[in-house]
Amino acid sequence: MDYQDLMNRALEARKNAYNPYSNYGVGACVALKDGTFIVGANIENAAYGSTMCAERNAIYATYSQGYRRNDILAIAIAGKGDDVCTPCGACRQVLAELLDKHTPVILSNEEKYIVTNMEELLPRMFTGEFL
Ligand SMILES: [Zn+2]
Repeated sequence: MDYQDLMNRALEARKNAYNPYSNYGVGACVALKDGTFIVGANIENAAYGSTMCAERNAIYATYSQGYRRNDILAIAIAGKGDDVCTPCGACRQVLAELLDKHTPVILSNEEKYIVTNMEELLPRMFTGEFL
């Protein structure tokens, strides 16, 4: 898996962010085993609670097209700033459900990336196994 390429695809998706309130654009890209890439960008709303993050848009689009966790190679999330973009708490909970806990999660800004996974991002995660 070419993580630099996946980061670049997430950065490209960031250009589609609709972010008039925060001016903080985020892009995400899911890489699938069949060679497909599915992107997402953050979409804000005047009613702030209706805003949706880039990584959730990307993973929801992935599932909406019929893919499931075993089809996913990696996901990249790209923002701007001095450090890499990192998912909010709500996104961590969603990704913990929809990704394998060891699937690579690439966090990036415009210059660098790190490779992590949901086990590191959400230790002692609450999942369906508890229900
Ligand atoms: Zn989020």
